[in-house]
Amino acid sequence: MSTLIDGKAQATRLREEIGRQVSRLRQHELVTPGLAVILVGEDPASQVYVRNKATQAREAGMSSFEYRLADSVPQTKLLDLIERLNRDPEVHGILVQLPLPPQVDESRVIQAIHPDKDIDGFHPINVGNIATGGHGMAPCTPLGCLMLLKHQLGDLSGKHAVVLGRSNIVGKPMASLLLQKHCTVTVAHSRTRQLEEVCCQADILVAAAGRTRLVKGDWIKPGATVIDVGINRIEADGRMRLVGDVDFDSAREVAGALTPVPGGVGPMTIACLLLNTLEATCRQHRIPFPDNIMSLAWGGTSSETT
Ligand code: NAD
Repeated sequence: MSTLIDGKAQATRLREEIGRQVSRLRQHELVTPGLAVILVGEDPASQVYVRNKATQAREAGMSSFEYRLADSVPQTKLLDLIERLNRDPEVHGILVQLPLPPQVDESRVIQAIHPDKDIDGFHPINVGNIATGGHGMAPCTPLGCLMLLKHQLGDLSGKHAVVLGRSNIVGKPMASLLLQKHCTVTVAHSRTRQLEEVCCQADILVAAAGRTRLVKGDWIKPGATVIDVGINRIEADGRMRLVGDVDFDSAREVAGALTPVPGGVGPMTIACLLLNTLEATCRQHRIPFPDNIMSLAWGGTSSETT
């Protein structure tokens, strides 16, 4: 039976430490980190995500600014709002909840956010910095996965990591971060052949395909650490449930450690959003990023880039 990786508990610890650092900033530097969240349209899942992000930002002592725009909003209006927030000194991080409606060009919007305020880590400058091992804002979900892995395994050097999924927001940045930590990385995707055999070679398996229970127990090397990023809504016994990309019951018999869904990666994603907002604030005000939060976030060691 595998160890359950408790993302909820780790995220709570991280958020508490972020809260302490925010109150230190407010008291000693007279700076309050500010997070602006923009939601376009009425997608129910996006509304829940945005509400959770804003609530948790406020609970950590940050200022939260919410902007809700109609589904029909013209792109220029959204770009104008981002431009205004880029210039607003009370806003240190800007998040535009994806997906966006078809009249809006997603990449144009991402590129409009100033890289220093891009706490989602989607701007090409941040993507490039992470890919080249430099100091950039890492996307929250892969960053949260990496923290869970560092906490569970310590040194990741030399481990074979298989990332299932190659999206810009999860799979690709996950691969970059694991490379930074000296893993041997394989990225698998919808065209990968013999997917099961590829997964079976993984010491670390990160499943981010968005396919309900795709990864079965017999796809997992005994003792491997499995991070399930997937969030899939299914109907069971007349009610909606969230399940991951990993078949939890069979995986639990084989894996060394495994994240549950819910309660694994999801809470870490929001905690990392707050972490990025705190880091963005420190950078914009040229305040050193606190060491203790760095070690809590990265599991005791600082980021290695060689
Ligand atoms: P996406 O649809 O953009 O990308 C999915 C990737 O999986 C693609 O690269 C595709 O090639 C690959 N893929 C799809 N089907 C496959 C198959 N049968 N075999 C192998 N590869 C396959 O999705 P995404 O945005 O990267 O998200 C992935 C999952 O993670 C979704 O379930 C999403 O809801 C979830 N997610 C969770 C969090 C969180 O905070 N927990 C955050 C972001 C995304």
